[in-house]
Amino acid sequence: MRPLSPAFTEYGWAMSTAEAARVAGIEPHAVLRFDGNTPPDPPGYARPETIAPALAEIQRYPHGGFPALIDAIADYAGVGPEQIVLGAGADDLLLLCARAFAGPGDVVRVVDEPTYPLFRIAAWLAGAEVGDEGAAVTFCCRPHNPTGALTPLPEERPLVVDEAYHEYAGETAVGLEHVVVVRTFSKAFGLAAARVGYAVAAADTASELRVRQDPLPLTTLSAALALAALRAGPPDVAPTIAERERLADGLRGVGLEPLPSRTNFLYVPLDGARQRYERLLRSGLVVRPFDDAIRVTVHRPEANDRLLAALEQSNG
Ligand code: PMP
Repeated sequence: MRPLSPAFTEYGWAMSTAEAARVAGIEPHAVLRFDGNTPPDPPGYARPETIAPALAEIQRYPHGGFPALIDAIADYAGVGPEQIVLGAGADDLLLLCARAFAGPGDVVRVVDEPTYPLFRIAAWLAGAEVGDEGAAVTFCCRPHNPTGALTPLPEERPLVVDEAYHEYAGETAVGLEHVVVVRTFSKAFGLAAARVGYAVAAADTASELRVRQDPLPLTTLSAALALAALRAGPPDVAPTIAERERLADGLRGVGLEPLPSRTNFLYVPLDGARQRYERLLRSGLVVRPFDDAIRVTVHRPEANDRLLAALEQSNG
């Protein structure tokens, strides 16, 4: 095989729920996950009826392109259907963008690091190196993972903007020249396991991306779920935002200082973050640890209260 960059680090999975349950000595269903930045419950349209027509024709290849889904996404994003590229999650499109814009001998720039690790992985898998000078393409995450901030848009072009959390922030880079926006159905739409994402770009860029991808990156089951999501109307993020602010207040109440967030998660700087992560894990609460912080996804109110109680205890 072609060697990978000496700097290459593979994607690191969080601990499974089964393993977390074993560590905590509880049943898997009792584990509360605050680490995935996904909603706590499946959406109403995730029903057997939604996928029944696709199942009835599951033995057949679908006609490529999923035109009904592309039209619905284009309406949602306020662009023409020729500007949409579908993928198996935002990850698939980030990998596509990296290999379309960069290759061996090229440099890919990633701004606001540490950020979503897949940007680096995508650059390395394209054969490029990650650096700051003379970049062939720049990646940015806006709103930013892991801090939740709505960071300023970089000036560099071409630019790939990961807008996985844009519904929570209400701001977008769609429409800017030489910018590819990558979005997902995994967050506000609650369809992470269905693996549906899309890129929005100028029509000529979108068609260049399309010819470089897997001819059928989506399943008909996933396409049916994503179409149902869009037909249900724009996701209502207001309750999550209100609960995020209540959780932030609660965190301040136990002496912590979460950063202001425009997403469905909070970044909470604290000392001994890894030990704090381990202690929460033993209570069946899984957060995302960083060197000097934990990141917590907004969960149901009762789950958030359990997290606050556990943090208060471990503060004292
Ligand atoms: N981008 C960011 C910034 C993310 O946080 C995530 C998921 N953690 C993704 C992309 C992945 O999205 P998808 O499930 O659509 O591949």
